[in-house]
Amino acid sequence: MDYNALADLLLPEINKTPEYYEKLYPARNLPEGARVTRIAPSPTGYLHLGVLFAALVNRITATSTGGIFFTRIEDTDKKREVAGGIEDIISGLHRFGITIDEGFISGTEQRGEYGPYQQSHREEIYKTYVKELIRQGLAYPCFCTAEELAEVREIQEAQKIRTGYHGEWAKHRNITLEETKALISEGKPFVIRLKSPGNEANKIVFEDTIKGKIEMPENDEDFVLLKSDGIPTYHFAHAVDDHLMHTTHVLRGDEWISSVPKHIQLFKLLGFKVPKYGHISPIMKLDGGAKRKISKRKDPEAAVHFFAEQGYMSEAVINYLMTVASSDFEDWRRANPDTSYKEFKFNLKKMSVSCALFDENKLLDVSKTMVAKLNSVEVYNMLTDWAKEYDEEFFGILTADPEYTKSVLAIDRDVPKPRKDIAKWNEVKEYFSYMFDDLFVPDFSLPENVNSEDAKAFLTAYKNVYNPADDRQEWFQKIKDIAPTIGFAAETKEYKANRDNFKGHAGDLSSVLRIAVTGRRNTPDLCSIMQVLGKDKCIKRIDNMLKNI
Ligand code: GLU
Repeated sequence: MDYNALADLLLPEINKTPEYYEKLYPARNLPEGARVTRIAPSPTGYLHLGVLFAALVNRITATSTGGIFFTRIEDTDKKREVAGGIEDIISGLHRFGITIDEGFISGTEQRGEYGPYQQSHREEIYKTYVKELIRQGLAYPCFCTAEELAEVREIQEAQKIRTGYHGEWAKHRNITLEETKALISEGKPFVIRLKSPGNEANKIVFEDTIKGKIEMPENDEDFVLLKSDGIPTYHFAHAVDDHLMHTTHVLRGDEWISSVPKHIQLFKLLGFKVPKYGHISPIMKLDGGAKRKISKRKDPEAAVHFFAEQGYMSEAVINYLMTVASSDFEDWRRANPDTSYKEFKFNLKKMSVSCALFDENKLLDVSKTMVAKLNSVEVYNMLTDWAKEYDEEFFGILTADPEYTKSVLAIDRDVPKPRKDIAKWNEVKEYFSYMFDDLFVPDFSLPENVNSEDAKAFLTAYKNVYNPADDRQEWFQKIKDIAPTIGFAAETKEYKANRDNFKGHAGDLSSVLRIAVTGRRNTPDLCSIMQVLGKDKCIKRIDNMLKNI
């Protein structure tokens, strides 16, 4: 068989050889041990949690070794592509603070010496390498139609034989040059398949950098390299691209594990150095007690837009994902509460081998801790940025008087031990609604042990002594001073020692005041709240309560 003639017949337009590209994309000049990683998302929809997670793992692996993290767009499936898909993915990564060294750095711009970083623009490269495989007798054209392949599959299934295009089932494996010429002149479409030298009875062993040693049968399937429209399959594009872009570590979703024998085989046949593989377990979710993969269809949190809409700080989401990525991150975080996660010594071996569970409560907890570290001005800026995009009404309220809003946000925040309360920006409207007249909803229900007569007596007395200049202690002292005059104990201790002698204690009366001023039973420091609201507003609310109980 004249393989050169076959190669020219099948790909006449290709006149470059692999050497051309090997020279064009020389080895990277990086220090020993530097890892080159990437993500290769398809622009078929929004950025989802799995891609963000993979990006984080790849980014931190590159960062911690002084390497490079790049993005490559796998846009070979034009039918499933959505407009603005690249932009959505890249801007999403930026939003979460994942920096990109190379590849697509925005929806339209690429950076780096190893491009183009978009598979639809690399057709000539793929074809050059396929042509070389054909020349070496390692690839051949297959003219089987979809119907024929389905028929073969049915027969295999009926006979309980492993399905696929392998061994004696590989119909065109030994096609001659003449047959090929004849079929081409009839205008029959064809794909290019690998002529696999593998044997199912042999085993390949590889060391997965995350999952450890894995053993699998060698690939004997003559899988497709180039589809009939000249577009490569994922397998082939992965080998060519990651070779030419000098990826050292392919860290990707573990749905690709079963393809590793194909990939290792391809790298070897092409004469490429096999990269290290690491397969990332998917993030799962508990659904009715059973674990399942987070689903783009069923779960709002599958789309990372969800986190932005809810007003999670992107840093909180990333820190949460770090706890998912590495079993020792939480201990490190406790020991280094103020250090950026980027300083964490990430080790792929510490990644969970089985599926990690998405735990919203943990995310909320991580977020609360992070928000509690912010000062009121930082919160004001982030909150208003969020509200501008997702809650226009609230944005208007927050920005009507920025100084007032900042003093609201400073309550229990710009203090030595800030309160850990807010986890995400969409909680703030409800949390502080009573601080804004447009949102305030009065509530006139009283604590169980305070009747309306006592509440009235207390509020009337309190109105006369309230002074916004009082500090917390003076503020509470005034409540304590009123307590005995209406049968309440000034001190809780006193009340507890002799419950029959009192109707309640000063704390119960401060609850009455809290309800009058905020409509709530639970709030941050009431003295600060009243100072920020100002005397007029407080008195007005107290009067309103007096009228309604
Ligand atoms: N487009 C592939 C995916 O999203 C890329 C896998 C890889 O990283 O190699 O699953």
